[in-house]
Amino acid sequence: MRIALVVIDCLRYEYADLFQFDGFQRLNNVVAVSNWTMPTMATMMTGLHPTEHRCCLFPVKDKSVKFLRSVLGSKYRKVEQEMIVDQYEYKAIMEIPIFKLMSEKHGGERVTCTDISGIKHAEKYVEDKDVEFLYLHLKGGHSPYEYSHQQEISHENEPAEIQALSEKLNPFIKKVVKHFDRVVVATDHGELWEDVDSPRDVKINYGHGGEFGLGNLHVPVWTYPDTKLPDGLYDTRLVYNFLMQKPIHIQQLVMSMSPAYMDYNRFAITYLADGKLHCENFSTKEGWAL
Ligand SMILES: [Zn+2]
Repeated sequence: MRIALVVIDCLRYEYADLFQFDGFQRLNNVVAVSNWTMPTMATMMTGLHPTEHRCCLFPVKDKSVKFLRSVLGSKYRKVEQEMIVDQYEYKAIMEIPIFKLMSEKHGGERVTCTDISGIKHAEKYVEDKDVEFLYLHLKGGHSPYEYSHQQEISHENEPAEIQALSEKLNPFIKKVVKHFDRVVVATDHGELWEDVDSPRDVKINYGHGGEFGLGNLHVPVWTYPDTKLPDGLYDTRLVYNFLMQKPIHIQQLVMSMSPAYMDYNRFAITYLADGKLHCENFSTKEGWAL
């Protein structure tokens, strides 16, 4: 079976209509398990909740590889074994530490690509039957606006950026479904717009990875073929489960958010491992002082 995962990084739900993926089911009530890339991608790649994979620390960027190595290494071998990258040939197009690390571990091709040429690069794998798992990670609405070549990062300029991406992505997905058995197009998180999402008299920061709001948590997900999933509330664990043909359960929003939220607020993370409840505060550990 050939499966494909296409991630549009940083896409608000409002932009879903710009993408036309024939034969897909669009799920409209999906919440990302966190508001930034690393935890939500770790979840999509493992099917594990952040309480289990624990890639939910607000990172000092250059240290995140070191951290992930320890998570995916000896102590958390279970996570590694359950990754879909273990079962499929891995072709990664990315620049984010978790993907670099996965790629290193699994001997996949490593390509750093932040612009729209990633689609072009992925095209050569579409008809290659040796590639059982095609994974394409696109910059999406993330700054800088390389697709539309705009200088200013603002929510007014975002539609043109997403439009430029969709014009390339729509025909690419049309090709992908001809050659793959299961395809998911997903978003790891959205983006907060300070002038739209701020409650009255409360100023929030533009972006993601900081404050939590529907703007950066509510995400569109498309699944192919259309298996007529119930129109319920899901979190992004469904991506892994759909690709791996595992049961998909409707999830609880509060449960999904809590580890990432606690991490953002510098609380300890509580998680289950080896049948025991553990509690750790990473911010006090050497190398992780924040
Ligand atoms: Zn992201």
